[in-house]
Amino acid sequence: MTNSNNDFILKMMSKVLDRQSITYEEALRLICSEDLDTLANCAKNLTNKLAGNGIDVETLINAKSGTCPEDCSFCAQSSFNSTLIEKYPLLPPEKILLQAENAMNSGANSFCIVCAYKAPPEKDFKQICDTIKLIREKLDIEVNVSLGFMTNERATILKNLGVKRYNHNLETAKSNFEKICTTHSYEDRINTAKIVKKAGLELCCGGIIGMGESVEQRVELGVALASLDPDEVPINMLIGREGTPLYGQHLITEKEILQTVATFRFLMPKTILKIAGGREVHLKGDDKKILQAGANGIITGGYLTTKGNKPSDDFKMLKEIGVR
Ligand code: SF4
Repeated sequence: MTNSNNDFILKMMSKVLDRQSITYEEALRLICSEDLDTLANCAKNLTNKLAGNGIDVETLINAKSGTCPEDCSFCAQSSFNSTLIEKYPLLPPEKILLQAENAMNSGANSFCIVCAYKAPPEKDFKQICDTIKLIREKLDIEVNVSLGFMTNERATILKNLGVKRYNHNLETAKSNFEKICTTHSYEDRINTAKIVKKAGLELCCGGIIGMGESVEQRVELGVALASLDPDEVPINMLIGREGTPLYGQHLITEKEILQTVATFRFLMPKTILKIAGGREVHLKGDDKKILQAGANGIITGGYLTTKGNKPSDDFKMLKEIGVR
């Protein structure tokens, strides 16, 4: 630890508190910081002052699983990858409603309907709309969706149905994207993110770290995300699933996760930074550390194709660190 490094982190915190953006070079210096305590404390301070001290707790449902025609190399649901996941068509509205009710009763404040499509066929899109209507009529929980690529027309329909947030991740840095996916482009992803915002939906847009990207590319992703001004940024940590090209890769350490999350907080001081898929494997119960280093959201109760913590365990953990 050096004093100059410590001084630099404090200077960056003041800059962000003064409502100024930090540059790519400054973010790169932050993410390489070895003074983890100062970095985490400053990121936490920014979170409390600019994003509030609550924690967003979300539950997901994988409402249509597998057979996606895209070739994302990290994804167990791609039809290019031979994984042993359960594959099924779109679930009926009643089944999704029941899951939403369980999520609400477990204490989650939002419920995200996620479907593995490039974009839903019209019949499925209509059924998803009916499901959203049903949940909005019967339950008091925010409804978010993740359905692949959007058109302006569909985004407006979702907005009018009362959907709060639309998830569409950038996945990785632009300079790393072709190594991860070849069936669509980075620009396609940016385009849907912009359509979502234009329709007045909140944008949930994040990525996955630990896919072999460099530290510079992690910062590149953070800067690209910040430029979209997302309301929420989920940060997933790769678990290389058997049957995917990234199987067996564990390319990120807990220290790097902390450095990344804290730096993303400097880049996006007001957003919900949500630690998502992979936290149970990579953090091994040390989620508290990341929640005290700039993160202010979690996904509880499992992910799309992997299990997660029980909501009761997560709420206990949140109580222990004294957050709402
Ligand atoms: S588009 Fe989404 S569901 Fe399809 S392979 Fe890529 S990450 Fe998986």
